[in-house]
Amino acid sequence: MKPAAFDYARPTTRREACDLLFDAGDAARIIAGGQSLMAVLNMRLAEPRLLIDISAIDDLRTIERREGYLAVGAGVTQAELLEHPTLADEVPLLAQAMPWIGHAQTRNRGTVCGSIAHADPSAELPLCLLTLGGEVVLETRKGKSRRVAAGEFFQGVLTTARRSDELITEVRFPLKRPGRAYRFQEIAMRHGDFAIVALAAVIADDAVELGVGGVADRPVMRTLPHGEKLADALNEFAWSLNAQDDAHASAIYRRHLVRELGIRLIDGETPQEDGANARQV
Ligand SMILES: Cc1cc2nc3c(=O)[nH]c(=O)nc-3n(C[C@H](O)[C@H](O)[C@H](O)COP(=O)(O)OP(=O)(O)OC[C@H]3O[C@@H](n4cnc5c(N)ncnc54)[C@H](O)[C@@H]3O)c2cc1C
Repeated sequence: MKPAAFDYARPTTRREACDLLFDAGDAARIIAGGQSLMAVLNMRLAEPRLLIDISAIDDLRTIERREGYLAVGAGVTQAELLEHPTLADEVPLLAQAMPWIGHAQTRNRGTVCGSIAHADPSAELPLCLLTLGGEVVLETRKGKSRRVAAGEFFQGVLTTARRSDELITEVRFPLKRPGRAYRFQEIAMRHGDFAIVALAAVIADDAVELGVGGVADRPVMRTLPHGEKLADALNEFAWSLNAQDDAHASAIYRRHLVRELGIRLIDGETPQEDGANARQV
């Protein structure tokens, strides 16, 4: 199928993009890498009157280390962030998780902020942002901006706290903290597919922050204890996610993965892969 007809604008400043968004209201959509949006348009799940392409806005193409976090602008592709020379040192969870996102071709076009805006419950970047306690920066007309914590930003399947006249200008991933280990693992049908279950963990001496993607209608994070109480806490967490059966996996299997992969990830028994050998199920 082909999309319904639309107008196309390619502003060169954030201000121009925000003005266009404000004027068009719900009738406009931002297009970044187009890796999710084009499928939505082709299937006519959305029929915007105007597409606002943000790829020519130079000041959205920055990756900056600031006080306590790495700021990734809305024009930065997933490939650019993955190739950022200090990523593994600054945000090790992202360096582990990002090779699991799609394929080299989709990462070359798809943006980091586009994945956050799209809010697929199985996507790796929203899961990492939530587990690390990051935030999303949104800008609207006249340069007004607000920050929204990841825990409030993701509200359901493809649903976020973004208002229709807001442009996501950057996402902020907290930097590595001393005394923490960072681990990521996922199970997918084939490498490059969306996760059936994905887990991201920030492990401290006294507790673990575990994020789960692919099970609930959004990524979910829970603080869990170490030691003998961990198995029960993981079981309770797995049940709380309200897993559903679908064409890829049963709810029982998803709960099983949360419990089993969770234990292995937290205890350090899961090999840290570079994403090249996603397991078959
Ligand atoms: C074959 C294939 C496999 C894939 N596999 C995976 C995978 O395993 N894991 C995964 O996470 N993703 C996967 N994806 C999706 C990919 O990561 C997309 O790049 C990402 O979901 C969207 O990024 P984008 O820049 O392409 O956004 P677009 O497709 O351009 O936009 C997506 C949505 O976000 C909105 N948007 C984008 N940028 C902004 C902004 N700055 N402000 C406000 N709204 C904005 C758009 O209006 C649209 O609604 C896959 C895609 C393909 C085609």
